[in-house]
Amino acid sequence: MSHAPAAKTAATTAATPNSFPDPAMGEPFLLTPGPLTTALSVKEAMLRDWGSWDGDFRAMTKSLCDQLVALAGDTQGDYVCVPMQGSGSYCVEAMLGTFVPRDGKVLVLANGAYGLRAAETMRYLGRAYTLIDKGDYMPPRGPEVDAALDADPAITHVILCHCETSSGILNPVAEIAEAVAAKGRKLLIDSMSAFGAIDLDVTKLRYEAMVSSANKCIEGVPGFGFVIARKSELEGCRGNAHSLSLDVYAQWANMVKSGQWRYTPPTHVVAAFLEALRLHAEEGGVAARGARYAHNRDVMVAGMRALGFETLLKDRWLSPIIVTFFCPADPRFVFAQFYERMKAKGFIIYPGKLTVVESFRIGCIGRMDAAIMERVVKAAAESLTEMGVTSAAPPAAALEERAKLAA
Ligand SMILES: *Cc1c(COP(=O)(O)O)cnc(C)c1O
Repeated sequence: MSHAPAAKTAATTAATPNSFPDPAMGEPFLLTPGPLTTALSVKEAMLRDWGSWDGDFRAMTKSLCDQLVALAGDTQGDYVCVPMQGSGSYCVEAMLGTFVPRDGKVLVLANGAYGLRAAETMRYLGRAYTLIDKGDYMPPRGPEVDAALDADPAITHVILCHCETSSGILNPVAEIAEAVAAKGRKLLIDSMSAFGAIDLDVTKLRYEAMVSSANKCIEGVPGFGFVIARKSELEGCRGNAHSLSLDVYAQWANMVKSGQWRYTPPTHVVAAFLEALRLHAEEGGVAARGARYAHNRDVMVAGMRALGFETLLKDRWLSPIIVTFFCPADPRFVFAQFYERMKAKGFIIYPGKLTVVESFRIGCIGRMDAAIMERVVKAAAESLTEMGVTSAAPPAAALEERAKLAA
């Protein structure tokens, strides 16, 4: 242990004013939407073992839940937070299985892989659903949700991805929430890659439950997710769940009774998450976290555009979370080589998920600031030069594809 403070000092002194110390300390930065690059103090918070039954750990769980409910803007005690073991998808499944009654029906709004995963989850659950699939990145809009709800009175719930991480589009959640509430239906939100950086305030927007996870905008390490739900709604969910371990109601009831998770909690991950929440508050909460990510995006996108790269999305739909770029048309550009060259310069980027044209993605989230994003752009420029690519301009087909996107 005596060496830990020295290591910390070395990392801190590497910082320039107003920038983060190099949190990765020789590891590549993860320009991926989670797991992502975390602060050194978040990693250090895991250097201690906790007993899951112990009062100290129960207090940690309570603090985590209280802080998350506060981040959602609830000051009246109307909402509760229920952490669930597992990755984000486990929590989406837990939310759908718990909040949608067995005779309910879900309208799934999809514009990418995560929306389609919600539909696939419904298929596994064996519960009724209908899908509006907008393709790779077109946003679902209020009027079409309105029409779909009018057309099918059996629909009880709607699920929407807040930020569809596969393209990086920020979906119009307020517009959808209004349409759903106006028709008296219930809204479930997958805010996995948005919560903590983009407002999802229960006093401004009506929803029954939302889900997010430890390793996205709060900048913790992977291992659990959490559901934030209207308490009166959750109270009516007893017996809905299809799965013992994914029963949000049972997890909540147990926590109310004993302050404990039902089964082994990821204790170290929880400890790291509390440190991540401390850093989140210290930075200035949701607004400041979102502003840093937006600045990261702006610096990175401007630099990449100056190199000739083009974004899939028009500015209006660009989230501050992750940005999709078209691969250049130049045949000397090979993504696998670009990836390795970026990695050699200290940056792990992310392959694209579009079905029509080739693309790649660069994340803006994690313990990184604009100075690091400038280094990302420099690394991209150097990688292009090494590959002999003189123009990063995309093929005409990519621009035709983008022209389909509404202003
Ligand atoms: C990350 C993410 C998930 C969950 O993914 P896991 O790999 O299971 O953690 C779900 N939805 C969205 C929108 C995401 O960004």
